[in-house]
Amino acid sequence: MSSDSEISSVEQSDSEETYPEEEIENDDVDVEVVLSLVQPYEDEPLADASAEPHMEEENEDADADGLTPTVLEARYERTVPVTSWCQCELCNDMNLVGALEFRCCREVVHSSGKLVFDGSIERISCITQHEDYAALSNRTVLLQAAPLLRNKDGRSYRRRSGVPENEFIRAVAYRWMIRWLCGYMGWENTRPLPACIYHDIRSRYQTLQSRGYRNALPE
Ligand SMILES: [Zn+2]
Ligand SMILES: [Zn+2]
Repeated sequence: MSSDSEISSVEQSDSEETYPEEEIENDDVDVEVVLSLVQPYEDEPLADASAEPHMEEENEDADADGLTPTVLEARYERTVPVTSWCQCELCNDMNLVGALEFRCCREVVHSSGKLVFDGSIERISCITQHEDYAALSNRTVLLQAAPLLRNKDGRSYRRRSGVPENEFIRAVAYRWMIRWLCGYMGWENTRPLPACIYHDIRSRYQTLQSRGYRNALPE
C-alpha cells in the first residue's frame, strides 16, 4: 500500500467522508498529506440552503401550524412545488401573494382540526369542500356579514368609495373564514388562511390587484 493510492482516492471522491478514519488515527504521515490535499476544497461554496431547507429548520421557530420561515420561503420560491406540500389536492399557488400563504388546509391546525372533529374528513379532503364553507363564502352572506365585523378602530366593516365590491368581499371573506376556523380573534392575533381558501376566494371574487395576507385587511 502506498500513500499515493490513498491520495488519489481522496482526490477523486471529493468528499471528506471517504477517507478512512482508522488510518488517520494510526498514521500521522498520511494525515498531513490528506489534509493538505483537502484544504483547497475548504473555500467551496456551501450547498444552497433553499435546496435543502431541512438543514436550517432546527434553529428556527415554527409558527402555530408547525411551519418554519425556511419551509414557507422554499414553497414561495417554488423550490418545493405545491404538489409536494398540499395534501388536500385543492391548493393552488397561482393566486398566492406572500410566503405565509403557502400552507395547506390539512396543515393549518384549525382547518384540519375541524375536518377531523366533525368527521367530514371521511367524505371530503379539503376545507373548501365543507358545506359550511360553501354557505359562509357566498357573496350575499359575506355582504351581510361585513357590518358584524369590526376593524381595528372598532368600527364595522364598510366598503369605502372607490373600492371594488370584490376587493371588499375578499377582505370580509378572509376575516369571516378565520373566525369560522379559529373562533373570535383580536386584531393582534391574526393568522394566515390555507392556500386553498385564498385560491378559492380570489378565483371567485376577482379584482385587478391581489393584496396578500397582512395587507388584505381594510384600514
Ligand atoms: Zn392543500
Ligand atoms: Zn384545502
